[in-house]
Amino acid sequence: MTCPGLTWGDRLAALRLMAAIRRAPAADETVTQMFARTRQTDTNVRYLWAPLCIAALNTGLDDASARVFAQVLRDTLLGRAGASDVLLPRTDLGQLFPAPAAAWLTRQGGQVRAGERVRTISPHADGFALDVAGSPEVFAQVVVATSPHHVPSLIGALPGTERIAAEIASLGYEQVTTVFADFGEGARLPQAMMGFAEGVPHWIFDRGALGGPPGLMACVVSAADAARDDTERAVIDAVRRAFPALPEPRRVRTLTDRRATFRCTPGRALIAQPADSRLALAGDYLLPLYPATLESAVRSGIAAARRVAG
Ligand SMILES: Cc1cc2nc3c(=O)[nH]c(=O)nc-3n(C[C@H](O)[C@H](O)[C@H](O)COP(=O)(O)OP(=O)(O)OC[C@H]3O[C@@H](n4cnc5c(N)ncnc54)[C@H](O)[C@@H]3O)c2cc1C
Repeated sequence: MTCPGLTWGDRLAALRLMAAIRRAPAADETVTQMFARTRQTDTNVRYLWAPLCIAALNTGLDDASARVFAQVLRDTLLGRAGASDVLLPRTDLGQLFPAPAAAWLTRQGGQVRAGERVRTISPHADGFALDVAGSPEVFAQVVVATSPHHVPSLIGALPGTERIAAEIASLGYEQVTTVFADFGEGARLPQAMMGFAEGVPHWIFDRGALGGPPGLMACVVSAADAARDDTERAVIDAVRRAFPALPEPRRVRTLTDRRATFRCTPGRALIAQPADSRLALAGDYLLPLYPATLESAVRSGIAAARRVAG
């Protein structure tokens, strides 16, 4: 409401959307349809709603689920104080979450075996036989916490999981491309994280300001704009136009995750858990009201742990 550059019409339109979300669960429509229904202004969509939607759902407005976007707004802008804070890690995500979790598990007497791929899961008299590098190992209970596209081949041999495997196999995916550009040690951005209102990249992070190598910028391109042939060049040109003091980068490395997140469209149904309670699925794709985020992965993980513990 206090953001400079907005007209009263923009502010009222934003209130109209938030009031509609507070009043009733959003219809199962696209985000573009919800914006039309609540008469959002071009300014609001361009500078506020579109960046939020693409960041959270990694899906373009014309395809994205209004119901899921409404849930994101409910949890953040309508949530408790602090729920919409932007948190920027000063270390890599591995050090932030998985490494301390693995250390805790080891202290509790658990064993963490990284880098060992489970090939298949088969029924066994004492639970399940897991094929790890050709040698089967038997476990009483299993939580399958892989990304969704790995699940069907893992659980396909287990009786009663055919429908679940088919539902998971039908999920679509969106890409994320990150262009890492090294502009040299003296290069800095005015802020550690900045957004682009149009074109690519969508976001740029000054890794040097976040504990990484000075001068390294991570430029993120989401959803449909990712992984085009000219993405890398378009990103570097746009960044140098926006920050003319930056020189031509010394090194550029581009990474594309082709199945970065599931496509978050209307009508995504709840994927049921297997009937056998010794087996649980965990992952961001299991919560129909949430996009592919760390939040949904954690919520689903807790539910899976409760299921096998119970
Ligand atoms: C580039 C990118 C940027 C993102 N940015 C954000 C962000 O800013 N905020 C946010 O909240 N979310 C973000 N996400 C989404 C977030 O990473 C996911 O929603 C989250 O990691 C999902 O967690 P998960 O536990 O369900 O699955 P995953 O994190 O995918 O974990 C699955 C694990 O299973 C392992 N695995 C797969 N097959 C096997 C097998 N056969 N045997 C053993 N292990 C196996 C994989 O190696 C992997 O470690 C981003 C995703 C990408 C790709």
